[in-house]
Amino acid sequence: MSGSDFVLLSGRTVRDDLYSELKVKVDTLARKGVTPCLATLVVGDDAASMSYVRGKVKSAKKLWISSVQETLASGVPESKVFELIENWNADENVHGILVQLPLPPGYDTPAIQEAVALSKDVDGFHAANMGALAMKGAEPLFAPCTPLGVMKMLRFYGVDPKGKNAVVLGRSNIVGIPMALLLMHADATVTIAHSKTSDLPSICRGADILVAAVGRPEFVRKDMVKDGAVVVDVGINRVDGRLVGDVAFDEVKNKTVAISPVPGGVGLLTVAMLMHNLVTAAERTVG
Ligand code: NDP
Repeated sequence: MSGSDFVLLSGRTVRDDLYSELKVKVDTLARKGVTPCLATLVVGDDAASMSYVRGKVKSAKKLWISSVQETLASGVPESKVFELIENWNADENVHGILVQLPLPPGYDTPAIQEAVALSKDVDGFHAANMGALAMKGAEPLFAPCTPLGVMKMLRFYGVDPKGKNAVVLGRSNIVGIPMALLLMHADATVTIAHSKTSDLPSICRGADILVAAVGRPEFVRKDMVKDGAVVVDVGINRVDGRLVGDVAFDEVKNKTVAISPVPGGVGLLTVAMLMHNLVTAAERTVG
């Protein structure tokens, strides 16, 4: 990013650029006789989960990535879930395994995530991958897709976190914590804020880079943002049938040098980064 020009951080532009790169990689793999394949498991009939999986399968098709899908009835014994994952772990034609969350109550989600072979953990949720992300000098095989998408977006638009104060609002395992770790690895000085943080507005005002992942519509107001900050809105909230981010975009925008919109921002990158992780997994099998 150069000078004081304002930049809208477009998830669509970043995604299209990434997909062009991935198409070349998928073609190269095809010449070596490898078609990346994503295996997805849904337990139960949660409509949102079904719709997310359909979106992932659709994106995979666009890139000539194949997919296999299993839907198990809610209440199926956990042993059945482990058996299926073991089969996919052993299947050399499957390169990535995705267990759609949330699982219905009663299933041991961490144990199921850890049953996925590390080399196929394209979601990056396996404890060993998360652990590697938390260690200085270690490299996870995969990092979680949404925060990875934010890093891709920052890089694409020339935002270098090095030496910057970054504040991550939210500390979930899928967004906030890995987001903070990725920013730290990129040499930012990182603060993680959450529901028990005192004087949140003043902490946020210290941010050169503010990433909002709280799940509260328009939570970040203009008095929480430093002039000239870069603001990345991870939030996806449905309000009266429309999608709203965690940032009050209209009032915050004028204080920033760059901000991502909702929709059209980070939301488009999660699946794109899943495809990136999957292609990486397939590439590793051919050396
Ligand atoms: P979680 O509900 O798991 O975590 C929310 C975090 O925000 C928690 O750490 C919580 O703190 C914190 N928080 C909640 N209320 C406040 C508050 N009033 N003040 C300060 N902190 C608060 O959400 P996720 O991380 O899963 O998701 C966050 C948002 O990102 C959601 O809108 C979700 O829809 C969206 N999302 C978007 C994705 C994408 O593809 N773009 C993918 C995944 C999520 P505490 O830990 O103390 O409870």
